[in-house]
Amino acid sequence: MREIVILGSTGSIGVQALEIVAANPGKFKVVGLSAGSNNLELLIAQAKKFNVPIVGTTADTSAIKDGIAGVHVIDGATAAAQIASLPCDIVLNGINGSIGLEPTLAALAAGNLVALANKESLVAGGDLVMAYGRDRIIPVDSEHSALYQCMLAGKLSDVKKVILTASGGPFKDRSDLSTVTIAEALTHPTWSMGNVVTVNSATLVNKGLEIIEAHYLFDLPYEKIEAVVHPQSVIHSMVEFKDGSTLAQASPPNMKGPIGYALGFPERTSDLMVAIDWKAKHEWRFEPINNEKFPAIDLARRCGDLGGGTTAIFNAANEVAVAAFLEGRIKFTAIVDSIETVLQKIGAGAPIKLRDLKDVSAIENDARRVARETLGV
Ligand code: MG
Repeated sequence: MREIVILGSTGSIGVQALEIVAANPGKFKVVGLSAGSNNLELLIAQAKKFNVPIVGTTADTSAIKDGIAGVHVIDGATAAAQIASLPCDIVLNGINGSIGLEPTLAALAAGNLVALANKESLVAGGDLVMAYGRDRIIPVDSEHSALYQCMLAGKLSDVKKVILTASGGPFKDRSDLSTVTIAEALTHPTWSMGNVVTVNSATLVNKGLEIIEAHYLFDLPYEKIEAVVHPQSVIHSMVEFKDGSTLAQASPPNMKGPIGYALGFPERTSDLMVAIDWKAKHEWRFEPINNEKFPAIDLARRCGDLGGGTTAIFNAANEVAVAAFLEGRIKFTAIVDSIETVLQKIGAGAPIKLRDLKDVSAIENDARRVARETLGV
């Protein structure tokens, strides 16, 4: 029985992870859950259903403490970090945004393995996270799960480059992005995900974040990390080795694949998803990314090259802009424009070396303040 902790249990990743647990009785045991304040009722229901002895939440818990007998409830800003430190086989971090960094570090400091769906942990504090060692993290982001799986076939020193696939988002073939509505940005052609990731996929900021994520996870220089549009989202990424051989990982666009892979690693879990039907006629296409229309990837790459706190600025500025867009306060195109402006204003002043979480928080607070000023929100 593999004992797991799930952070962000009421979000898209957390809910799918619990579906995997429910579908595999005897394989996984949930020993801790944490969630934000958005859906306390669901957190309570999850704790009851899976007999979880301890839960954490940032919400007001006066209601929850009466609601579940026998469940220990931790509340407050550090609840997720405390739950992440529980003794277990693996902590799944499905938190959204760079607030996921603190619990990732807490899990690693406690000696836990981390199944990392929270890419912002690496974008905001990659050096701090990877200081615990590459063998402590199993990626859950579908592209990085694919790279991880393909890399088991060869040595890291023999990798010539990696190629991240991108669906291209809903606006790949749309010429005017200034009129994009919230509903349009939240309609992804192939993946079903949380709102912020879906908007990030539409701007291609997500692919920029994932290039930075790949840099830290696999210790690859940025020039060895490419991205290509693959509208079907069936090839999740590829590794090209020095002999000219390329390995790809393919499966339907279903997050249960990478979530289950990480939770069970190195064992595979039966029937996480329906495999590709090779008897049906279908095609996989690849096309270059239009970097003029979607400048987010080049912007992320430039931040990555600068290193240190610059990628934390990129992410924090994006988080502010996406929230403002989802509230209907700014245009879709203002998201990436504002990230660029924030970087011009404070990018050069970011420290080269991040020493601790405090350094990251200071940079992020600064970036958020300048982003709000820039956007007038
Ligand atoms: Mg991804």
